[in-house]
Amino acid sequence: MNDLLRQIPKVDECLLALLEDNSLEHIPVGLIKQAIRQVLDGIRKQILTDKGKKITSGFLYLPTVLASIKAEVLRLHQPRFRQVINGTGVIIHTNLGRSILPESTMQMLYQAGGRYSNLEFNLETGQRGSRYALVEKLLCELTGAEAALVVNNNAAAVLIVLETLARGREVIVSRGQLVEIGGSFRIPDVMARSGARLVEVGATNRTHLKDYRDAITEETALLLKVHCSNYRIIGFTSEVSNERLVTLGRQHTLPVVEDLGSGCFVDLSSFGLEKEPTVQEVVGSGVDVVTFSGDKLLGGPQAGIILGKQAIIDRIKTNPINRAMRIDKFTLAGLESILRFYRDPGTVFDNIPTLAMIAAPVELVDRRAKRLARRLRKSVGEHCRVTVVDITSRVGGGAMPEQNLPSRGVSLQPAAMSVSHLEKTLRSLDLPIISRIGEDQLLLDMRTVADDELVLIDRALHQVIPAGA
Ligand SMILES: *Cc1c(COP(=O)(O)O)cnc(C)c1O
Repeated sequence: MNDLLRQIPKVDECLLALLEDNSLEHIPVGLIKQAIRQVLDGIRKQILTDKGKKITSGFLYLPTVLASIKAEVLRLHQPRFRQVINGTGVIIHTNLGRSILPESTMQMLYQAGGRYSNLEFNLETGQRGSRYALVEKLLCELTGAEAALVVNNNAAAVLIVLETLARGREVIVSRGQLVEIGGSFRIPDVMARSGARLVEVGATNRTHLKDYRDAITEETALLLKVHCSNYRIIGFTSEVSNERLVTLGRQHTLPVVEDLGSGCFVDLSSFGLEKEPTVQEVVGSGVDVVTFSGDKLLGGPQAGIILGKQAIIDRIKTNPINRAMRIDKFTLAGLESILRFYRDPGTVFDNIPTLAMIAAPVELVDRRAKRLARRLRKSVGEHCRVTVVDITSRVGGGAMPEQNLPSRGVSLQPAAMSVSHLEKTLRSLDLPIISRIGEDQLLLDMRTVADDELVLIDRALHQVIPAGA
């Protein structure tokens, strides 16, 4: 064993050899050294655990060691932030970046990043301008709200609204709406951080107007509604309508705030999804403040949109916390571009990818699945059973819980490789493919896969499947 340890190539020896390799020319030497140390350390550990049983000196053959180091260098040099193919069928997949943006919106981001802009410059007066001015007008035009403000995300929106309106005072909320959404965002916790005190009313399944009314005291700052984004209370249930809550608020001069979560500008009920009130309808119901995300059903960049009465939005704008939550120029450029599409509601289902994926008829998804299956049968059919199967997609992003969209998937059952191994291998490719596992088959939901990704999937599987056979 000591003999083997002595035979491990030296760091300098490896470095010298790798510096001669033209394909590593563009890689910083520090990174190459790091890879060498990692690989050599790994070899040392393997020899020590093996205790001279199986490992022979062939294990230390220099070209083989150099090849492993090179692979490690390339791995370390790769950006950690990567494009992936979403074969999960979850359209607003929070872990995969939620909404993807249309090409023309990407052009705006490109410009915003690479060129100077009028971000905070009023081109008419030549003076300092407000970064929010442009999208504010557009948001009001589209929703009928009096005023608007955009912050970093919806969690920030909820926090700043509560901090501004209810710090040190009470907020009344229905027990059925004390939501925890992904990433441990809990309404009660956010509220605690805002300095507001939570007053829960009603029972988990039923809350009545009287419950809110009885809880109002001198300490009450506002009435809060929270959209049950990711769960549903079914059966014997009852919630108070916005209109009745607004009337109660008016009687006691208390603002009504609604955290809509997803916030959609268009009706999705014709696509087999349950009717949810649109942002315009919620604004129309008279609530004083509405908040929602930019990257859920709106289909834009990450943002938290706050709509409401002028006087309240003005107070939120001047809250010093607003400076800590402000959006950057990419968000602004992306959001304006997305909002402009909504001026023509007839075309949003063609232009905004999140909505296009929701609206895609199953026949279209089916054709995509058949095209991929045909290709795959040719390329890997000998080593893998390829079929088109009925599956269901999800809207995701805490929107439309429990609601499925009929979809088609390509199912793969490799002959000489376990499904879980195939799933893991696809995840580890240069262009990772994220899939779903179901009943001993690997599933690729074609609702969330773009047409130009089919050839990439085919190429990847061609590379991966025979290797496992
Ligand atoms: C998603 C969601 C949030 C958080 O929104 P982010 O934009 O992710 O910060 C808050 N409240 C509800 C009800 C949500 O669904």
